[in-house]
Amino acid sequence: MANEFPQTLTIAGTDSGGGAGVMADLKTMQERQVFGTAVVVAVTAQNTLGVQDFMALPQKLIDEQFASLAADLKISACKTGMLADAAHVHGVVENLKRYDFGPLTVDPVMIAKGGAALLADDAVATVRDELVPLADVLTPNLPEAKRLTGLPLDDKEEMEAAAVELQNLGAKNVVIKGGHEATPDQASDFVLLADGRSFWLSAPRVDTVRTHGTGDTLSSCITAELAKGADFESAIRLAKDYVTAAIAHPIAVGHGHGPLNHWA
Ligand code: PLP
Repeated sequence: MANEFPQTLTIAGTDSGGGAGVMADLKTMQERQVFGTAVVVAVTAQNTLGVQDFMALPQKLIDEQFASLAADLKISACKTGMLADAAHVHGVVENLKRYDFGPLTVDPVMIAKGGAALLADDAVATVRDELVPLADVLTPNLPEAKRLTGLPLDDKEEMEAAAVELQNLGAKNVVIKGGHEATPDQASDFVLLADGRSFWLSAPRVDTVRTHGTGDTLSSCITAELAKGADFESAIRLAKDYVTAAIAHPIAVGHGHGPLNHWA
């Protein structure tokens, strides 16, 4: 069917506090006017103060969620977020190879802003070797890019070198988020496109603690735009603007790192 409504999929962990993970993804997808679906990999007990606990679901139930979607919906873009551990990363990769859910955006979630590990240490190699090569868009923040490449990333040149390295690992388009160490008053992301073109995306740094779920929102916005048919450059540029606006007009929710404002 040519004119089906754009359908998207997030493969990630939940946030009971509503600000990050699957919840942020679905809110973003709704705002960007695509239909959002979710394969839940892990469930977190979480609020704006931090992650109190989490548990990954049995692989069989994750496989069944993929099968349910593939049997009925026409997903045209998908993303991954929190995947918990090496076995679950591998299980998700198997499903991504089994089904065609369109271009894949990989947000290689490792550690929450509050310090909680959302990916086991020994799973970083599995992400690098199995998941990164499937990524049409890879969106690491600086600590994640450091872990994936082993590079120091202390200045803009090193961020650019890391993006090339991530492309060498198999990611097609790379967005390295937050060059704050190189640019303290700017939130600068480096983008390296599949065709070799590259550019910096900069926005004024906003002084706020309400930035919970920023990475999830960026990657799910990219996914939504790709599902609507945008090219990679347009999707990435629009997502940066969307996140910048959502941070700039914070809403008061919770006592800690509050969520973004999706209506900004
Ligand atoms: N919880 C879940 C389920 C997430 O997927 C993420 C980030 O991807 C977070 C928490 C952390 O969000 P933040 O580091 O923006 O606070």
